[in-house]
Amino acid sequence: MIIPKNVNKILQKLNEAGFEAYIVGGCVRDCLLQRTPQDWDITTSATPQEVKKIFHKTYDTGLKHGTVTVILEKEHYEITTYRIEKEYYDCRHPSEVIFTKSLKEDLQRRDFTINAMAYHPKEGIQDYFCGQEHLKQKKIQGVGNPEERFQEDALRMLRALRFSAQLGFDIEPKTYQALQKQKKLIQKISAERIHEELEKMLQAQFLEKICFLWESGLLKEISPLLYQKMLSHGTEILQELKNVSFDRIVRWVIFLQYLTAKEGEQLLKDLRFDNHSIKAIVMLLEHLKDEIPLQEYEIRKKACEMTPEQLNRLFFIQGQKKDTTKWIFYLEKILERKDCLTLKTLAVKGKDLQQIGINGKEMGEVLSFLLDMVHKEPEKNKKQILLAAAKQK
Ligand code: ATP
Ligand code: MG
Repeated sequence: MIIPKNVNKILQKLNEAGFEAYIVGGCVRDCLLQRTPQDWDITTSATPQEVKKIFHKTYDTGLKHGTVTVILEKEHYEITTYRIEKEYYDCRHPSEVIFTKSLKEDLQRRDFTINAMAYHPKEGIQDYFCGQEHLKQKKIQGVGNPEERFQEDALRMLRALRFSAQLGFDIEPKTYQALQKQKKLIQKISAERIHEELEKMLQAQFLEKICFLWESGLLKEISPLLYQKMLSHGTEILQELKNVSFDRIVRWVIFLQYLTAKEGEQLLKDLRFDNHSIKAIVMLLEHLKDEIPLQEYEIRKKACEMTPEQLNRLFFIQGQKKDTTKWIFYLEKILERKDCLTLKTLAVKGKDLQQIGINGKEMGEVLSFLLDMVHKEPEKNKKQILLAAAKQK
């Protein structure tokens, strides 16, 4: 296994100070799968205080959970003390975190067997729960009793589905049954966390696995409305998702396409989406059924109304149900030529109109008139021509 120089350095320093240290979790899993790890997490027998003494640059990430972040050459590495979690009081937060000197105990608290492995260059892979075997079998299996593990932390149910979609793995039957049984507990999880997992799912490589989100009934507990839509249209939606690029706005619109714009907006708000994304997604849901004539004028007008980026997305999404290649081609040409689309690039500004005595309400009307003229005939976007037209009007 090849691990970055800095990570090796961190392990070595901890070892030299007399502590055990391993890389752990997602990075070990991803290395074994020959995927690029998102980040390199380290687990150690040293307490956070001890870790802080060993490294110059650190900051507290979650001291209560035993996590200190170490900065080495501008890179950040999370170092977490071996710990056990006791009694979850709300299906999400352990009531007490207890540090331990046993790596095995630390691995045991982790969610899935494939995420519960540690590695040290000199000691090799530490795998107490058949993680390597399950990687080979391509299965997601809870560590220990899955039902209890989901009761401890209900987010794990969504994580199981997300890993399944990212890795193309199946969820092991007992783990899946436990998920179906405990699905109601997902309601205890914060909307932000649910959003984060769904976001990762929609960006995943093995989209066909997302069907278990509704087939298991879990989606019903998140949004009964979307659940209903997926039961009827899920297969078609997944097919469409597979065809489109990784643009997250496009993916969300396809995912939510059978909701009305209003229903979609409510769901996105409930899931605590940022306003910018809500605006973009809802706008596209509103326009999904628009029939835009295949004329440059109409396309310029629409690009002005929606922004070219959004219009391009719309053509792309509509392209799943009909041939929109010509529309996309026209829009490309318009953008290449840098045709004037908005007031920003109109050759005449408000100030110019003031100088010829146009003010107030009239000004807005004249500007729209001129912009429409330029949408019809882009070559007319010249100051003289537009001022003359304004005067005439
Ligand atoms: P990703 O590729 O998304 O980073 P990851 O497996 O690294 O996947 P993280 O959320 O970064 O996931 O968590 C790192 C490790 O911490 C996991 O591999 C797992 O061992 C453990 N872990 C994370 N979240 C949970 C959880 N909710 N319950 C139990 N263990 C968890
Ligand atoms: Mg990770």
